[in-house]
Formats: sequence, C-alpha cells, structure tokens
Amino acid sequence: MRFQGKRAVVTGGASGIGKATALRLVGEGAEVWIGDIDEAGGRDLAETSNGRIHFVRTDVTQAADIEALMTTADAHVVFNNAGGGGSRSPIQEISPDDWDRTQSLLLRSVALGIRYAAPLMIARGEGGAIVNTASIAALQTGAAPTAYSAAKAGVLHLTTMAAADLARYDIRVNAVCPGFITTNIFTATLGIDGEKRDMANGAIRKMAAQAQPLQRAGRAEDIAAAVAYLASDDASFVTGTHITVDGGMTIGPRHSW
Ligand code: NAD
Repeated sequence: MRFQGKRAVVTGGASGIGKATALRLVGEGAEVWIGDIDEAGGRDLAETSNGRIHFVRTDVTQAADIEALMTTADAHVVFNNAGGGGSRSPIQEISPDDWDRTQSLLLRSVALGIRYAAPLMIARGEGGAIVNTASIAALQTGAAPTAYSAAKAGVLHLTTMAAADLARYDIRVNAVCPGFITTNIFTATLGIDGEKRDMANGAIRKMAAQAQPLQRAGRAEDIAAAVAYLASDDASFVTGTHITVDGGMTIGPRHSW
C-alpha cells in the first residue's frame, strides 16, 4: 500500500499502459484521476472502481485541459503517459503540420503536464513524483518512425532537466522506456478495430515475442510495475533517470552461444 492517502494523475489512463498503471496505483491505495480523450473507456473504468478512479475528459494537446486536470486532482503523483503513434513519414517527406502534431501529442503534452503539476506540488510542500512515458525509440533506431522517436528522446532529456529544476522541492522526475508492449496503440495507429484488432494484436504479440530476448510480448502491467516503483518512496533517492522495460530488446538479438 505504497500510495495510501495519495492522489495520482494518469494521462492516457483509459487504455493500455495508463489503465494498467491506474489500476496498480489504486491497488496500492491511491485515488486516481485519469485524463483521456476516450470518454467511453475512461467512464467505464471509473464506474467499476468503487469511487477510486475519476475520469476527467482531457486532450493532452490542449494546455487548458491539462491545467484543469492537474488543478482538479492536485496530485502527489503524476504519470504523463498519453500518446499515440504520430506521423509515420520519413524526415524527407514529413509535413510541418504532421511534425508539430506529433511533438504536441508526445512531447509538449509532457512538458505541460509537468508545468501545471509542479506548482501545486511546490505549494503543498511535501515533494512529489512525476513519471513520464518515453520509449525504447528514444534510445535506438528501428523501433518507431522519426517524429515519434525524436519526441520520445525529447521526453528523456526533458525528464532530466525537469528533475534538475525541481530537485530542490523534493519533486522527483523520472521516465520509463517501454519496449514492445501489446496494447491497442499499434492497431489504433493503423486504423484497425473490431475483430480484426484481436487478430492483429495476436500477430503483433508473436512478432514481439520473437524480437525480445525474454521471448514474450511485454504486458502493460510490466510497465505499471516500473512506474509504481518510480512513483513510490522506494525510489526516494532516484531522480532524472529512466528505467527500460523491454524484455532485453535494447541489448540486441538473442545469442546462440
Ligand atoms: P494505448 O493506445 O493503449 O493507450 C493510449 C491512451 O492515450 C489511450 O487511452 C488514448 O485514448 C489516449 N490518448 C491518445 N491521444 C490522446 C490525447 N490527445 N489526449 C489524451 N489522451 C490521449 O497505448 P499504450 O501503448 O498504452 O501507450 C501509452 C504510452 O506508451 C504512449 O505514450 C506510447 O507512446 C508509449 N509507448 C508504448 C509502447 C508500446 O509498445 N505499447 C512502447 C513504447 C512507448
């Protein structure tokens, strides 16, 4: 029960990694506010949570929405996680608008999440914990397209800089770098839903198992466990860094010797 008496915000909490993390934090005693554009998913989750999860309709590309979410929750723990695939164009073809949309969804959203959460934590005077979702795409090529990967690399350095800005207030800022985690992000990016989505996710799980030395697809719960650690007092001396949770993918291919 590491989050007993704590309030937490999870953006992108209606699905995937955010949903698993919201449930994990609630399981450890927190009261959670999820901010998401998926109203049906967000409200469903809130309704089945015995009043422990609240839904605030939030578009993380909109500064006013993020500010309202942070003000409503006045949280001790913030998980800036909402996201999607972004532009799939190579750099020589990407349009300026596509570039901006991807950075707005994946990088500006995290900067503004910190921007609006931190003053409330500072005013409370009890420190705080912020965790941001980056990606293995921040660490290597080949994991995701260019605009997405650049945004996620930005999230990593933003995490380090924000940790330096906020350390004097005992506010810790860390990131998590998920590997290949089977959520709906891939099918959502490709516009696949319904029955086809389950089939596609099955195929993606198989591909992921082959790509990762630990030989299984990652689960949203694998990331939630790392986020819960970074957000908890167990990590009270950890700031400005990231945990990679990728089944070993970034250490390279499986070896046969
Ligand atoms: P997901 O599609 O299951 O969940 C993403 C959530 O974000 C959804 O609930 C969606 O409605 C919400 N969202 C999208 N745009 C939003 C917006 N403008 N405002 C508010 N909410 C919005 O995907 P996921 O895999 O759980 O993704 C969560 C995070 O993890 C993302 O930042 C993603 O880039 C990152 N990530 C995922 C993987 C992976 O393999 N699944 C790997 C590395 C990083």
